Amino acid sequence: MASLNNSTAYQRYLALPGLPRNCPDFDRNLNNEVIVNLHERKCRLKVLGVPCPAFVGTAGALVQHIELRHHLTCAGRGEARRPSTAKILAANAFYEDLMTEHDRVVAEETTAVRERARIQNLQVGNVKLPAIKILDGEDRGDVRT
Ligand SMILES: [Zn+2]
Repeated sequence: MASLNNSTAYQRYLALPGLPRNCPDFDRNLNNEVIVNLHERKCRLKVLGVPCPAFVGTAGALVQHIELRHHLTCAGRGEARRPSTAKILAANAFYEDLMTEHDRVVAEETTAVRERARIQNLQVGNVKLPAIKILDGEDRGDVRT
């Protein structure tokens, strides 16, 4: 593989409007510099607990975004024009891990939603719902059913 263009995981990462589910924060090096992956285009920093929505055109633009917007320094600043095969393979593994975790979380949520729907259907079919008590606003001590 000569580039990430052939990587299904990378193409799926790009196709998502936001970050993959359960996406980790950026790794840092020993100097606390943010490590941006090859061709990475989405910011993974959280601002007050909320993921930053930045989705930019290039990894270079992401580095610029992180440095200007979040006031952090990035490791390696920008990308080599011809990344090594090892770097491409490592980046592909990173995107594969991201999308595997994304798929796992989505599958788990889908199962949970189906299970809830199944239980709700059972309850609607077989169980009488309890009467709702209405509190009278004028006379607070009085409870009507
Ligand atoms: Zn950001």
